[in-house]
This record gives sequence, C-alpha cells and structure tokens, in this order.
Amino acid sequence: MKNLWRTIQFIPEYRGRVVGVIIVGTVLGFIGTATPFLYKGIVDAIARMLSGTITHEQATWTVTVLLITFFALRIGVVVFGALQNKQADDLWLHTVSTFRQRVFENMTQKSIDYFEKTRVGEIMDRFGTITTITMWLSSLTDGTLASIIQMLFIITVLLIKAPVIGVIMLAVLALNFFISYRTVGLTKPFRRGWQTLAGRMTGLLAEMVGNIATVRSFGGEPAVKQRYDDTQAEWLIQRGNLHKTEWRSEQALNIVNTVGVFAAVSLTAHGALQGRFTTGDILLVLTLTQNLINTISPIARQINQASDIESTAERLVELLDVEGEHADKANAIPLTQFETITFDNVSFRYPNKDEFALRNISFHLEVGKTLALVGTSGSGKTTVVKLLMRFYDVTEGRILINGIDLRDYQQRSVRALMGVVLQDVALFNDSIGENIAFARPSASTEEVRAAAKAAHADEFIQRLDDQYNTMVGERGIKLSGGEKQRVAIARAILKDPQLIILDEATSALDSESEHLVQQGLEKLVTGRSSVIIAHRLSTVMNADLILVLRHGVILERGRHADLAVQANGLYAKLFTLQTQGRVLDLAV
Ligand code: ADP
Ligand code: MG
Repeated sequence: MKNLWRTIQFIPEYRGRVVGVIIVGTVLGFIGTATPFLYKGIVDAIARMLSGTITHEQATWTVTVLLITFFALRIGVVVFGALQNKQADDLWLHTVSTFRQRVFENMTQKSIDYFEKTRVGEIMDRFGTITTITMWLSSLTDGTLASIIQMLFIITVLLIKAPVIGVIMLAVLALNFFISYRTVGLTKPFRRGWQTLAGRMTGLLAEMVGNIATVRSFGGEPAVKQRYDDTQAEWLIQRGNLHKTEWRSEQALNIVNTVGVFAAVSLTAHGALQGRFTTGDILLVLTLTQNLINTISPIARQINQASDIESTAERLVELLDVEGEHADKANAIPLTQFETITFDNVSFRYPNKDEFALRNISFHLEVGKTLALVGTSGSGKTTVVKLLMRFYDVTEGRILINGIDLRDYQQRSVRALMGVVLQDVALFNDSIGENIAFARPSASTEEVRAAAKAAHADEFIQRLDDQYNTMVGERGIKLSGGEKQRVAIARAILKDPQLIILDEATSALDSESEHLVQQGLEKLVTGRSSVIIAHRLSTVMNADLILVLRHGVILERGRHADLAVQANGLYAKLFTLQTQGRVLDLAV
C-alpha cells in the first residue's frame, strides 16, 4: 500500500476530510447494529403477550415505544446517509481537481530529457489514473468505512450476546479477509501486466495519430495495427487471467459465508429449542449475521480493488517520481542583463548515452554580437543551445554568463531573457493571437499586431477567416511551414528578448517564404545578441564568430572572411560549393 499512501500524501486535505467521514460512518454503523435489537424487542413482546407473561396493554406500550425509536433511527439513516453521499461527492470533486492541478504542475517541472524519451500517450494514461484513484478513495467514504465500523459493532455484540456464534462469525470474517488477501497476491502480476499494456496501447494510439502522415505515406497502417493488435492480445490474456482468479475467489467467499450463516442460525435455533434463547433472539442473530455478511462482501471487494488501485497508484507515483528539472540553488541569483556568454571547455553526454555529444567546446560571446554554429546534422549544434537554455547541465567544464556559472542563476530568469525560434515550431491549439501572445500574456492586441507585422506574419493573418482569432489546429497543422515560422518569430519579437536563439529556423521553407521569414528574422536579431544555427551560409556570413562543428568538436572557428579562405577548410569547401550556385545544405 505504499504507493497509495504516497499518493494520498500528495493531497493532504483528503486526510482531514476523512475524520468527518468517520464520524458519520460511526453513527450509521451504530444505527445498523441497533435496528435488529428493535426487531427482537417487538417479537419478544408479542411472544410474551401470546404466552400470557405480559398483558395486551403492556405489549402494545412496548411495541409503540420500539416503533417510535425505529422510526427515529430510520430518519437518522436517511439524514446521515444523505450526508455521507454528499461527503463522498464533495471529497471526490475536491480531491480530483486539486490532485490533477498538482500533477499537472509537477509535470511542467519535469526535465526535458523525460519528455524527449517518453510517449505522450503513456503520460496521458498515467495522468488518467488520477480519476480512478480518487474515485476509489471517494467510494471508501461512501459506505465502506461505515460498513467496517458496522462490522466491528456487530462482531462485538455477537461476542457478548452469543459467544459461540461470535467466534464462528469471527472465523468467517478471518477467512474472508484471508481469501481476499490471497487473491490480491495471486492477481498482482496480472494487474500490473494489464495496466502496463493498457498504457502502451494508449501510447501506440497517440503515436499513430501524431505520425499519421508518415504512416499513410509509407502504407504503414497494417504494421501499426499489427503492433496494436499484439499488445491488445496480450492485454486480453492478462485481463482474462485476472477475471478467472477473481471469479474463483468470489465463489470461495460465497461458500464460506453461506456455511457461516447456516451454522449461526442452526446454533441459535438449537439454543432456542433448549430454552436458552427467545424467539426474538433467533431473529436478532439471523439479522445480525446476515448484516455482517452483507457488509463483508463490499469490504472484500474494496480490498480486491485496493490492490488494483495500488498498482494504479504505482504508475502515478512513477510519473511523479520522474526527476524534475534541476532545482535552482537555494541562493540562486536572478539574471537581468546578458553581458557575456562563455563556454569554458564544455563537454556533454546525454544521460542515457555513453558517447559524448560535445567535447571541449569553448567560446566567448559579447553582448550584441552574433555567434553562428555550422556543421553537419548530428554534429551537436542543437545540443549547444540546449545547454545554454539549461535543459541539461554540462557533464564537464562550465558555462558562464557575465562570468558567473549558469548553475548559480535562477533558471527562469535566464530563460526569460531568451527568445527561441526552432525549426519545428510548436503552436498551441488556440487562436493565432493567443499563440503569439504566449510570449507575453499581458501584451495588448496592438502589441501583438505590431510584432506580427515585424515578422511579416500580419499579411497572411489578415487573409484568414477570423484574422487573429483564427484557431490553429493542434500542433499548428492548419498553417504552412513558412506561416508557422513567422508566427514563431512574431512570438519571439513580442517577447523582446536580449538573446535570440535561432535553430535552423528557415531550413524547412521554400525560397519564397524563406525570403519573408529572413526579413522577419533580421528585424528580430538586429541590436541583440544572438546564437544562430543555420543550414544556409548566407545567414551566417555576417556573424561575429562562426564555429564549425563536427562530431561534437569544434573543427574551425573564426569570421567568414578568415574561414572562407582557409585552404582545405570544411567551411571554405562548403562556401565554394555555394558560390558555384550549388544548392547547399550544411545540415545534411
Ligand atoms: P545537430 O543539432 O547538430 O543536428 P544535435 O545537437 O541535435 O545535432 O545532436 C548531437 C548528438 O546528440 C547526435 O548524435 C544525437 O543523436 C545526440 N542526441 C540529441 N538529442 C539527444 C537526446 N535527447 N538523447 C540522446 N542523444 C541525443
Ligand atoms: Mg539540430
């Protein structure tokens, strides 16, 4: 139960509310146990009247008092039952919403590494477990706790009133819990199995949907369907095994309970025949044992589910336990102004890899200057930028901002000064205006529009049906590559950052839209520090420092004028090719 417990600790409010639930449960449990005594009283009064022990008036009087009490208790059941329902509803609503908010927030803090290697669907599936867990917690309060309390009451009464029957029922209870507990153990592997598989199936669905264009174009439908079918088949086996084991345990419970009730009633009848019990006692024991059995089944089921919930909670805890972003140091300082950026002998290895992605990278960039990173695909250009944004910490060496280690700054303050335009632009399924304003939600409509104008995005936005209110599809599929790129640039312009990072911002574009995007980019970069990764040399020619990377090391460094004339240099070779009019694609 340790995962469930950890989960509950995520919502401490739950524990506070449980106290109220226990109070209501106790009252209901008490009423449940007291009612059979009234039945007994009524039956005994009538029996004694019939046998002539008491008069008709006396019997009428007793029965009337008992009936009034009975009525009062029923009213109590209605009132407290309603209260219990409400508690359970409120509790669920409250816990599920706080819980989701906390997990969502927790997710925003996860390290980039996690998102780079985890299927979206898998995350969704784990997030979805919150509903299941809180539903179960709420069902605990809606009846189960009251049942447990009632069970304790009844057992106590039986042990006092009829010790032999009490002991028998105690044995029945023990057997019930033993069987449930064993079932839990037996079914545990199946549970974990089917849940993991269910997560994988959601993951496969999400992946297929996300890559539908690729799937279609390669005619990959049968392949992805096959993968899904295989997983589904495994799921069916695990689920089937689970149900079989549960079914057997259910039947065993039924037999134990039937025998238990039968034994209890026989013993009472036997006692009554010998004159040790009254007629009312038979009714009392019968009702109490029946009530007891009725309360056991839901509790046993709850125990069964508890193990389901426990493995569900384990999936959620795994999600919560994923390492978050490197926390800021306790005495981290805010960055307000970029002056210099220095890479001091930086080497870096991705967490899950043995090879270094970067080795001994050193450079120094002054404010207002432009650094260009050039190199073949996979040479480590994007990695340099990821380190600068501190998505990862360096493995060796240091990154210094204004001479101070990047790790000594508050990360948000550093990123707040950066504006990033990537090759693959991510847009939210929201209006274009909102997408631009994402950089600065407080921006006015005019400011958004001005930014869009500067980015040459205003032209195409005006032509859309709802202009700035036009919704873009999820991941921006309703816009062309060049349009998305211009929205991203507008976003960066609106942010008005001190440092611009462009990672192959124009590589996916045709020459027409590249021209427009280029104009936007020039506006963006002018007067700011920038780090530019470009696959076309024309963008790079004016950079103050060019680094040519290969396999994670700096092969050449300098300005265009120097590098272009270096004999046998990689840059010079590429530049010659370009001036000869060949289509040049450094990134390939
Ligand atoms: P570039 O941007 O120059 O094309 P990258 O910086 O993206 O190259 O990648 C450099 C190297 O690091 C490549 O070998 C790539 O496979 C590896 N790499 C990139 N991202 C990751 C990651 N998240 N996990 C592991 N390796 C990665
Ligand atoms: Mg890259």
